[in-house]
Amino acid sequence: MNILLLGSGGREHALAWKIAASPLTDRLFCAPGNAGIAQEAQCVALDISDHGRIIAFCRNNKIDLVVVGPEAPLCAGIVDDLEAAGIKTFGPRRAAARLEGSKGFTKDLCQANGIPTAAYERFRAAADAKAYLRSRGAPIVVKADGLAAGKGVVVAQSVAEAEAAVDAMFGGALGEAGGELVIEDFLDGEEASFFALCDGETAIPLATAQDHKRAFDGDKGPNTGGMGAYSPAHNIDAVMSDRIMHDIIRPTVRAMKAIGAPYKGVLYAGLMIAPDGPKLIEYNARFGDPETQVLMLRLMSDLVPALLASRDGMLKAFDLRWYKQAALTVVMAAKGYPGSYARGGVIEGLKEAVAVEGVEIFHAGTKTEGGRILANGGRVLNVSAIGKTVGEAQARAYQAISRIRWPDGFYRHDIGWRAVERERLA
Ligand code: AMP
Repeated sequence: MNILLLGSGGREHALAWKIAASPLTDRLFCAPGNAGIAQEAQCVALDISDHGRIIAFCRNNKIDLVVVGPEAPLCAGIVDDLEAAGIKTFGPRRAAARLEGSKGFTKDLCQANGIPTAAYERFRAAADAKAYLRSRGAPIVVKADGLAAGKGVVVAQSVAEAEAAVDAMFGGALGEAGGELVIEDFLDGEEASFFALCDGETAIPLATAQDHKRAFDGDKGPNTGGMGAYSPAHNIDAVMSDRIMHDIIRPTVRAMKAIGAPYKGVLYAGLMIAPDGPKLIEYNARFGDPETQVLMLRLMSDLVPALLASRDGMLKAFDLRWYKQAALTVVMAAKGYPGSYARGGVIEGLKEAVAVEGVEIFHAGTKTEGGRILANGGRVLNVSAIGKTVGEAQARAYQAISRIRWPDGFYRHDIGWRAVERERLA
């Protein structure tokens, strides 16, 4: 098969690594890709928001399957457009991607189908929103309805902070995404990410992970796209996994089918594992980043048949196998991230780093220039490792990092700490 992957981050490098390893893959292209992806695929400089050009590229290169990495093209209907042109595409159509594209849509779907989530209301006017949050009190959570690249959620510790968030979002700080708000109760507990593969009717669990959103050690500092992750999540055992499938994932897939928007693709549930059970915080309509980096390291089965079965509605008789080992990834980011940062710093030592046992390095934001690897983004490298325990994977990833020379970068030193602590106590 000729396969085209869309995207340019660490998630896409991990997907490219796995897709390239499939015996089904003949040629693999990636648009636009990065310096790491270029080791696995032929990178093509296509604007992925230009659906017409993507379709033309697929026709010219006899592409048999397109795999969409990020959420923006999904919400913009790229799957609808490619499928209408007769090109098989992995991922949800626009109407199904609303599970990520509209928080209000997802909350209403949960409420109508008894799916556990925080109590909420939707708002289009600041006065109503403020009256509601005063009636609920703090802590309280203010969310922009639309896609806001991870900046659309304020967990407010006081009513004043929540009111300021309402004013900022309705004031246009997030553009169109903030035209409508969801205000919901604060949930207490420990978070985890749960991934399921869906074909419109059937959902099968993939694996679990926990990510680290804050920029600095000890979960301090600003929120980021994710500074590291590990899998499996220590707070989701087999019983909890079954409960999540039963209470959250399967009812969602049934409800989406019932409204005529069958969900195909990866359904990524951000969960709060509360004392009284799992609750949905949010859905994403795609693989997580950096969670995919650890999922792909643990996936024993070929990924390509799984992607095809999702697209073709054939998951009922499908089984995926996973390595028992744990996997962990540490994000190396440019100093200043998630604020402003410099690009172009030279990165050295990658060959020595990847020689550490069990280590794979996925590139998130890099480019090649004159044979050198340069930083070209906020999140730049995902130094990843597999190990018998999370602790072993962690030790290997940090040993690899110690061999990387990149003065403009920083990283967290405590990725996986909850799981490592639990392993130590056991
Ligand atoms: P989201 O983009 O909806 O995943 O929200 C980003 C982060 O905000 C989540 O990963 C949580 O850490 C936090 N968050 C969102 N909603 C809630 C909630 N209802 N209660 C507590 N924390 C929340």
